Amino acid sequence: MYYTDQDKFISLLEHGVNKLKEGFTDLPEVKGNVYSHDKAATIIGQLAEKMHENYPYFHPQYAGQMLKPPTDIAQIAYYLSMFINPNNHALDGGIASSQLEKEAVAEIAAMFGFDTHLGHLTSGGTIANLEALWIARNLHPEKTILVSDQAHYTHERMCAVINTPIEVVPSDNTGVMDVNALEERIKRGDIGTVIVTLGTTGLGNADPLDKIVALKEQYGFRIHVDSAYGGYFTLSSKLDENVRAAYDHIKNVDSIVVDPHKHGLQPYGCGCVLFSDPSVGKFYKHDSPYTYFSSEQMHLGEITLECSRAGASACALWATQQLYPLVKQGEFAAMLDNCLEAAQKLADWVKQHPKLKLVIEPKLDIVNFVIDAPSASVSSQHAQAVFEMAESKHLYLALNTLNKSLMPEFEKGYWDQDKVIAIRMCLIKSDHSAWMDNITDILDASIANLST
Ligand SMILES: *Cc1c(COP(=O)(O)O)cnc(C)c1O
Repeated sequence: MYYTDQDKFISLLEHGVNKLKEGFTDLPEVKGNVYSHDKAATIIGQLAEKMHENYPYFHPQYAGQMLKPPTDIAQIAYYLSMFINPNNHALDGGIASSQLEKEAVAEIAAMFGFDTHLGHLTSGGTIANLEALWIARNLHPEKTILVSDQAHYTHERMCAVINTPIEVVPSDNTGVMDVNALEERIKRGDIGTVIVTLGTTGLGNADPLDKIVALKEQYGFRIHVDSAYGGYFTLSSKLDENVRAAYDHIKNVDSIVVDPHKHGLQPYGCGCVLFSDPSVGKFYKHDSPYTYFSSEQMHLGEITLECSRAGASACALWATQQLYPLVKQGEFAAMLDNCLEAAQKLADWVKQHPKLKLVIEPKLDIVNFVIDAPSASVSSQHAQAVFEMAESKHLYLALNTLNKSLMPEFEKGYWDQDKVIAIRMCLIKSDHSAWMDNITDILDASIANLST
């Protein structure tokens, strides 16, 4: 499997457990759970077998959705903290892990260039975005929220939850928010917040935040950045010029979401929301004065919508950021650059392939391409067939349904239906680049199998 050094992993965990025990030696001993080892071994064995029924997410030949194994130190830290099982809802429930959460979140805020911040971890990007939109609504109760048609579907759902109007702004033929259309809509008034996606989930492109910040200065509205998937790429030194310009403006926005459980090497259950103005904390707890929330003594339970939350997530994230600090030119940034390199290699291969058409130049580490065919329906069938053929050869892909506006180079006659199914690949693992020849060989063999 993926863990090349199981002994090292287990010895680190043992080291941690022994250290942890040292802190509690002055308590009278208590017995652990009593259970049958044999019975437990049978159950665990059964579980392991049931887990065979998964795609091998840990393997570089899995290049479908945004899945990868959490890094070793995150797993060890998470598991170690299970002996305490802290709850970061209330300080009482997770004294140490609350402090670690504040430290880890402050490092993320610093990565984005926020001078001040209020923020915390969440169980994921959905809840993190919900909180950001809920604050947006509290600040502008009557106003509309705007989002591009390439944004994550969670925004429309969450706006329904908080009962707030949301409108969709069209994107251009590279899948980023059309700034002219945005400005036209803003001029008509009543816009409270614009959601900007840095790293769209389908195409991996970045809305032009630099231009949207300029509109904010002119018209006045809030900006929420949803970078659940793409946020960490701000550490990369290899972004293309336009994308870099967008990322360089993150420091000027009102709120940000990033998912440590996507590109941050964490187990699921770790999202993060940040606000640049700490005074928004007042919306979480009505009877507290504003100053309370900018003090160092703020209490996580009073600035989160969720109550119980895994303190283990904070322990894992903190430990990971100690080993891989969130700095440019660091080891973590190099992992992200590897992903960009993998996407570029794949895109270059697609471009020279006679049967494939690249949808857009990859900006982050997602690549979409369609199979050349006389019509959109045949192209879609072929994508499905390649998906299945590749799977039989242990290469795991994803599919993405695209609007025809993204493929302006196809002639009118091609469009016997409005949409086309593309193959989508997320090269989110840092070893995807080293495996690219292997990946393209399997792709090529899968495409060669298509009946013409
Ligand atoms: C993944 C994703 C979400 C949803 O986050 P979860 O952690 O899956 O809840 C929201 N927005 C974007 C851009 C995403 O990529």
